[in-house]
Amino acid sequence: MLTVEDARSKVLDRIPRLQPERVELLESLGCVLAQDVVSDIDVAPFDNSAMDGYAVRYADTQGASEESPVVLRVVDHIAAGSVSIAVLRDGEAARIMTGAPVPAGADAVIMVEVTEGLENGGSTGGTVAIKRAAKLGDHIRRAGEDVRVGETVLREGEVVNAASVGLMAALGFAQVEVYRRPVVAIVSTGDELVGITETPGPGKIRNSNSYSLAAQVLAAGGIPRILGIASDNEASTRALLTRASEFDLLVTTGGVSMGDFDVVRNVLEEIGKMEFWKVAMRPGAPQTYGTIDGTPFFGLPGNPTSTMVGFELFVRPAIRKMRGFADLDRPRVVATLTEPLKKKSDRRYFLRGMLSRVAGPESAVAYDVRLSGRQSSAMLTAMHRANCLISLPDDWSEVAAGTVVECIRLDVEEGTA
Ligand code: AMP
Ligand code: MG
Repeated sequence: MLTVEDARSKVLDRIPRLQPERVELLESLGCVLAQDVVSDIDVAPFDNSAMDGYAVRYADTQGASEESPVVLRVVDHIAAGSVSIAVLRDGEAARIMTGAPVPAGADAVIMVEVTEGLENGGSTGGTVAIKRAAKLGDHIRRAGEDVRVGETVLREGEVVNAASVGLMAALGFAQVEVYRRPVVAIVSTGDELVGITETPGPGKIRNSNSYSLAAQVLAAGGIPRILGIASDNEASTRALLTRASEFDLLVTTGGVSMGDFDVVRNVLEEIGKMEFWKVAMRPGAPQTYGTIDGTPFFGLPGNPTSTMVGFELFVRPAIRKMRGFADLDRPRVVATLTEPLKKKSDRRYFLRGMLSRVAGPESAVAYDVRLSGRQSSAMLTAMHRANCLISLPDDWSEVAAGTVVECIRLDVEEGTA
């Protein structure tokens, strides 16, 4: 049987990055930039005050103190958004607000807390007492201090975060090129399935997989399209699978095991190309992968937790690769197992676990991990409670409590590498 690693490389080696598209600035959040962002302005665009206070010539304030303040004539009052026409001369100050342009002639700002308005309350035409000496450049934010004109501020391949959105807004980028999000078609198979608004009749259950998968697609930054339910026969399955080329990726659940009505694999072999159909893992060994008319196809097993784990291991990294991410995987941490476990020694296990932080040696961060509930792949409750998948190597069998195990964090988006 194919190992999880080999199956992953078979998938990822074949998955292409999608072409760039131009999106509205806010829609770029969480996407990978497909362009450099170069500034055509200085940020800050002009020298401006970092404080509410008085713009001064610093030389005038030398020797000023609480006991012997220096008194300056106030010649202007500059609000943020306005520009002073005053040119400060010796003995003069201008009242200035945070963000307002520093007037010509001024070379420092004194914050209002160490001044006292005298005549006219320290406004234009009056005087102000300065109680502390300024140093050259005090509280002045210089033009180009943050970004220089011509500077490359963001680079192709970077992931857009809230601060990058802010930077691009400051630079006037209302739209930006990012790698496109894949449109992911979702098909559930099974004669037992009914829609989620229906009351299942005898022998029937609601189609939950289409929704858990659509949620996983959304969380991975893809665009889910729920196509509906295929019956367990080739004609019905073929009718939906032949639509593959309308999408960037097609995912099915169910119908890939050894059951008499598991027809997905037959249809894939008939209309597409199968790369593999079984992976040495639990839950969900019958993981199927191939292409239909060039569109990558994933046939995930039907048990609700197998579906989700298969998505996590194979589909999520594929979606991230399509979106241009360099880092395809969730971070892993090592943790101390709090209970003994048993497994078959011919496949990798991904058990649903609860990681908790504990103090390690010298108060370093360390983790304990326990099972998050019953591990049947038909049960979704332990998956719901899990914040990690405990990854147990193929050849392990008895795992003692206290063993250090590797855990894939489900509560963190991406790795740090
Ligand atoms: P299969 O892989 O088709 O043999 O399905 C395995 C198990 O998963 C069966 O008990 C199915 O009823 C169940 N199952 C399959 N598809 C879904 C689905 N879309 N939603 C919920 N359970 C499903
Ligand atoms: Mg089935």
